[in-house]
Amino acid sequence: MSESCSSSSSPCGQRVGAAVESAGGHGADSPLCGPPTLAERIDRVAAPPLEMAGDTIQDQFGRVFDYLRIAVTDRCNLRCVYCMPEGGVDFARHDTLLRTAEILRVIRVASKLGVSKVRYTGGEPLVRSDILELVEGAVRTAGIRTVHLTTNGVLLPAHAESLRRAGLHGVNISLDTLDPERFSKCTRRIGLEQVLAGLEEVLALRFPSVKVNVVAMRGFNDDEMGAFVELTREAPITVRFIELMPFDASQIWRTGRFLSMERMLARFTQLHPQSEVVNGSSTEHMSFRLPGCAGSVAFIPSYTRDFCNDCTRIRLTADGRIRNCLYSEEEFGLLGCLRQDGTDEDIAQTLKDAMWAKPEDGRAAQQQPSSSQETNGRVRESMAQIGG
Ligand code: SAM
Ligand code: SF4
Repeated sequence: MSESCSSSSSPCGQRVGAAVESAGGHGADSPLCGPPTLAERIDRVAAPPLEMAGDTIQDQFGRVFDYLRIAVTDRCNLRCVYCMPEGGVDFARHDTLLRTAEILRVIRVASKLGVSKVRYTGGEPLVRSDILELVEGAVRTAGIRTVHLTTNGVLLPAHAESLRRAGLHGVNISLDTLDPERFSKCTRRIGLEQVLAGLEEVLALRFPSVKVNVVAMRGFNDDEMGAFVELTREAPITVRFIELMPFDASQIWRTGRFLSMERMLARFTQLHPQSEVVNGSSTEHMSFRLPGCAGSVAFIPSYTRDFCNDCTRIRLTADGRIRNCLYSEEEFGLLGCLRQDGTDEDIAQTLKDAMWAKPEDGRAAQQQPSSSQETNGRVRESMAQIGG
């Protein structure tokens, strides 16, 4: 599907995916789906017209979006088994990846609509040669309060200092095991030493926010909970245990590795009955601190989720598409707008339309008819393409 400026609701933000493709088959007259839900009925309405100054990005359920997560590439220097096959995925053509100025332009427009937090992710954001420029540009954008990075950490030792100098606020390091052999098994590469050196470096540089993301997998790293919790003893980091999600082409999610937050919590409270509940971010469903520890431990039910009501996230894929929900396959193209003389107002309207169409929650999003063959003619096979 090409990406011309031809949406009915926005001059440039063409809907790419489920709702448009299924317009005749998933509504009031669909014999398969029953009567339309409230969400489906109001989904047909475009976002209110743009006012820009003092305007915000909202949806039909009253949620306001102030957090932009940008996948700056779909390439990666690791091959985590739950994310990418050994041979990689169907990577986007280079000329379709958003360029530095395009990313910064989207951030600038979004900031005028109330976005105050930016996260660069991927793929691996540190493989992008302009990552410093991207961080500096976002930091300098009026209205952006904090800029964050989610990284596998392998290239952190080389970049940490300049990222700190560029004004990066937060670093989330994804690390699923502290055992070198398991690391190689999980990522199909070596690199644990570099990741740990990167973690030490960001702590030494006193980044305001440092988190370690651990995807919990039954029979793989569930025996390492104690070791990860131990990281919080001396260092002011948040270790976050995250549920495996069904976004990888090889679906290791279905192979018995899934570990629910409920089970993780049960194990944690058994191991650490003396831990106290503390406040965490909106996705950190339950957060704890152990007595005398500098950091905290959090649990994220990314699959058995019940935090959709608090969602504030807008996702931008590396090939310039807005996703209003991780679990939705519907995407709204921005690339045409950015490359075919679209105005800032056009970009803003696309952001607003995309988020206005956000399903009520992740389950409703999953029930949308599949549009995977229609997503730019490419099936999304990995979180690396959506931006984790
Ligand atoms: N490469 C960077 C990294 O690994 O931190 C950023 C991109 S990665 C796609 C972002 C996050 O998504 C990582 O924390 C990773 O563990 C997580 N992720 C990827 N596939 C996942 C899956 N199937 N289930 C749960 N988390 C996943
Ligand atoms: Fe790369 Fe991150 Fe995916 Fe691992 S999770 S393969 S590091 S993009």
